[in-house]
Amino acid sequence: MLAPSLHRVTIRFNATSPPNRDALQHVDELLTAAVDMGAIELEKVFQFVRSAFRRSGNYGLLFDLDDVLGAAGAGAGAGALDLNALRDAALVLRGFVRAAAEDLLAAPEVGRKLLDAVGAIVRAIGVDVTQAECVITARCVEDGVDYNVALEGVDGEVRYLFLHMVGPPEPSTTGQELWERKDSYADGCARTLFGLSGLLPVELSVVADDADPFDSWGDGDGVNELASSLALLSDLDTLRFDIGEDAVGPGLLVAIREPVLNALTHIYVTRAALDSTFMAAGRPKHLEGWFDALELAVTSRSNHGLQLQRLEIAGHFCLCMLWVRRVREVVGEVVLNVTCMNRVRSVCLTCDFVPWW
Ligand SMILES: [Zn+2]
Repeated sequence: MLAPSLHRVTIRFNATSPPNRDALQHVDELLTAAVDMGAIELEKVFQFVRSAFRRSGNYGLLFDLDDVLGAAGAGAGAGALDLNALRDAALVLRGFVRAAAEDLLAAPEVGRKLLDAVGAIVRAIGVDVTQAECVITARCVEDGVDYNVALEGVDGEVRYLFLHMVGPPEPSTTGQELWERKDSYADGCARTLFGLSGLLPVELSVVADDADPFDSWGDGDGVNELASSLALLSDLDTLRFDIGEDAVGPGLLVAIREPVLNALTHIYVTRAALDSTFMAAGRPKHLEGWFDALELAVTSRSNHGLQLQRLEIAGHFCLCMLWVRRVREVVGEVVLNVTCMNRVRSVCLTCDFVPWW
């Protein structure tokens, strides 16, 4: 034990994905085909290759590209091109591309590095994670996602790790370009939860007020990676969601449709900023998309033999009575402390007839 009196540790880390390896496979094929091409086609190939390196995050290969083109007399401002030299350049570059692809396979991932760093920290502060209770809270902040980790030891003392994840982008609605590296909050959070899995967390709390810390691309790639990391959290029995006015992108709810978090028995849902009198005086929120995702998650888990024991929802919500009925059939106990349950799909027999402030 090196620092037993250390109670707060802050880690800032970049959880950006590794460069896109699929793009290198694509470039390899392109360069292989290029050795039979003419000078004009070869020039186009090198342009595409440059674009692929840039978009896929393989920035080091941009230097290799400049080097081989320079050696072939085809660098910036070059005059007439030597076809054989260009073909040789394509083959040399292909060698660099293959080596880079091999290196990507061997490179340690962000999650692995974080796992090692967090392991070293808890050893230094003298916490036995098998005896401690670990609770994680995730929330979006301006430039990434914050994870607050509370570790309560058997001595009753609580140590805090504050992790600030930067790097992965919030998914845009425009989709991804060919060769672009795939990355999202869901991917970054998957790497982060992998890194925190050694702490054996028992509870994960998610604050999703106007952005979802587990947001993913529409194709579900990030969610798959997230589910893989969640499968490692075999002691986690409680999920808490503090959702806001516009909560729509519940990446975590999609991920737990899979048979992961096998110890999960309790889900608690509250509404962010319930203590605001301004919000409390307004119309109770329906948040149909969010609650539909919750229903899909608990139903799927029930089908996997992982029925939730208890679901508690508290706050200024307007819930559909049919939804409540369906959910009661797949969850052991449903406890509701909400403003209204008189909704039938899109019509609420109370909220739609009361003049809310
Ligand atoms: Zn209502």
